[in-house]
Amino acid sequence: MEVRLLVALLSLAVAYCRDFPECVGRMQSPIALSTQSAFPGMEFLPLELSTYEMDPTQVMVRNDGYTAIYSFQFPDNQPIIARGGVLMGEFQFDSLHFHWGANSDRGTEHVIDGGRYAMEVHLVFFNRRYESIEQAQTQRNGLAVLGLMLTNSSDAPNYGWVPALNEIQQAETSYTLPDPTVFNIRQFIGPDRRPYFNYHGSLTTPPCYESVNWLVQKKVLLISEEQLNVFRSLRDADGNQLVDNFRSLQPINGRPIVYYR
Ligand SMILES: [Zn+2]
Repeated sequence: MEVRLLVALLSLAVAYCRDFPECVGRMQSPIALSTQSAFPGMEFLPLELSTYEMDPTQVMVRNDGYTAIYSFQFPDNQPIIARGGVLMGEFQFDSLHFHWGANSDRGTEHVIDGGRYAMEVHLVFFNRRYESIEQAQTQRNGLAVLGLMLTNSSDAPNYGWVPALNEIQQAETSYTLPDPTVFNIRQFIGPDRRPYFNYHGSLTTPPCYESVNWLVQKKVLLISEEQLNVFRSLRDADGNQLVDNFRSLQPINGRPIVYYR
């Protein structure tokens, strides 16, 4: 490696640790998950989502330079609530976003039984005991993130919310979908939560707070190569193609991983 490049990389790493000390913590995400080595878990109450079956009254999508974030409003301002399962308390839905690769052989953050897919979607929830997601995200039991994998397939549904990405090609732009009913979350992720993995981890982007109850479903959703290419047409803050926005695997450091089948 060229010395100049090495120096540049080292100073970047030093800056990263100084600005975001949590990113080198011992409970970081994502991790490799294995059905074989996870502890089998038993739910006393099933992990459930409310409201997500309703058609939203407003859907907005934003390119923040790192990912595409969809946020929703529902009739009477009802929130989506996640409860039950491993969750201690009620968690309110904030938004969902995606991680994807330049090619379909990569893109997910978590790896399940050695499998990497083209994309991973994260539904982000915050503990309702806190007033806002900003407050919650620094607390140990502050966040819950539901993750699902997507693999490329020509049998994929034609998601009506994907073309909206054409309106947010540049970083720091947002767009309100003309027809919010095209994004029904239950239709997208399906009614079943099990089987899923649970472990305690972190945000996968700085500031990497170790505040996340991770719920990673084993079920793999489908998305077509054409639709993946719409995601890949987004630009980051420097005007470069926004792809490979996933974090590398982090050490497990003995954390318990539970599998609810
Ligand atoms: Zn994410």
